[in-house]
Amino acid sequence: MRNPAHIGEPRDQAWRDRAACKGSDLDWFPTPTQDASAQLAVCRGCRVIAACRRDADATEAPGLECYGIRGGETPVMRMARRGTYMRRRGA
Ligand code: SF4
Repeated sequence: MRNPAHIGEPRDQAWRDRAACKGSDLDWFPTPTQDASAQLAVCRGCRVIAACRRDADATEAPGLECYGIRGGETPVMRMARRGTYMRRRGA
């Protein structure tokens, strides 16, 4: 199953190898209406949460749609923190 440790460019592999979600059977790409509390609980115990959040911020374009749990945040939580809003690519 795909998880956030597989998102983005194959750089910074060191932190990805220590991701708590690595090998997890949880769905790391829930829809906005699905409960993501189990995934967020895994993130809270993740040793690389800061690196994961920095990677999300570096790889997701401001104002564009983003996906998946990353850095202890859902897409809606990330956009709220950044002060951006959901907008589809090309819109
Ligand atoms: S913070 Fe969450 S999404 Fe990021 S690597 Fe850790 S467990 Fe995975």
